[in-house]
Amino acid sequence: MASITIRELTKVYPGGVRALDALDLDVAMGEFFALLGPSGCGKTTLLRTIAGLEAATGGTIRLGDEDVTRHQPGRRDVGMVFQDYALFPHMTVLDNIAYPLRVRKQSRAVRYGRATSVAQVLGLQGLERRRPGELSGGQQQRVALARAVVADPRILLLDEPLSNLDARLRLEARTFLKTFQHRHGFTTVFVTHDQAEALALADRIAVMESGQIRQIGTPAEVFRRPASLFVASFIGSTPMNLLPGTVRGGAVAVGGTELPVPEEARGLVLDGQEVVCGVRPEYMEFSTEPVDGAFGGRVSVVENLGASSLVTLDVDGETVRAVVGEGFEAQPSAEGWASPRPGRVLLYRDGELVTGG
Ligand code: ATP
Repeated sequence: MASITIRELTKVYPGGVRALDALDLDVAMGEFFALLGPSGCGKTTLLRTIAGLEAATGGTIRLGDEDVTRHQPGRRDVGMVFQDYALFPHMTVLDNIAYPLRVRKQSRAVRYGRATSVAQVLGLQGLERRRPGELSGGQQQRVALARAVVADPRILLLDEPLSNLDARLRLEARTFLKTFQHRHGFTTVFVTHDQAEALALADRIAVMESGQIRQIGTPAEVFRRPASLFVASFIGSTPMNLLPGTVRGGAVAVGGTELPVPEEARGLVLDGQEVVCGVRPEYMEFSTEPVDGAFGGRVSVVENLGASSLVTLDVDGETVRAVVGEGFEAQPSAEGWASPRPGRVLLYRDGELVTGG
């Protein structure tokens, strides 16, 4: 196992696309680290550059104490699972798993002994003689994972390994992956564009945009305190309420409602400044009775989330959403009032979180 230290990593593709832009990243030994971001932000390029499948244009990559920036992929000692698994269709499960050991010229006995035991760890016993075409998506994923770890790599790289599975299998495979990683402690970098997956799996998350990292933190930090409007709008299964307003005498005037300036932003914003108040729908209280200082409007949509509902209020043309608990009865076009729970408002100015801490 090794840590990963990346400094000023830049990748410019031949056509001139700057896929990575002087990116810095530290992944600790044994960490399960997710790279999250919209399509085209550079996640796969970062993973492939760590693996050595793409050459860096500039900057350095260290695995543990070793600078591997110019090393061939075979010398980096990295296991990788690709989005489509990239299994060899003509080879059996066991031959697929043993392949990295063959490349390393291990003896037949070592190859099959090791491949058989990894197949067992990954619940593939009984399937060793099949070919990939005779396996389910979940089983193929496990073969790919077995092949990635069979040579005991220093780090494990996973490129959207769950994206080919259907919703139910995906949840199962996700739990399996997390248990597997925690039990064996591989330093793992995991690429996904699915924020729920990143929140559920990772020890820490890096949110990327345009070849750079916009925020790094634990799932709780990134969810509760997005550092910018970009991260705020990207994280969360229901989008954060982002309400534009103006600072006025210790409060923010948002439409006809006033919200107190959050404690952490006091003294840092000036009267007359344009800001955005961010409140997660989960942190909104909702009432069908008038509440002082709340956003009052008409319910436009009620979406059933299972144990809760997502209520969308039309407040003078502005949309305000609130998650309400079980037993909620409001109907579309009813009147409703939503107010942020104390301490749950974040203040953004020029797209960045305003905070003294
Ligand atoms: P997705 O979630 O869609 O897989 P991503 O975040 O993994 O996206 P990358 O595949 O790393 O993004 O691509 C980053 C940028 O580099 C994009 O603008 C993409 O078009 C470009 N790019 C990727 N591969 C190449 C290539 N081989 N040649 C030229 N440009 C490339």
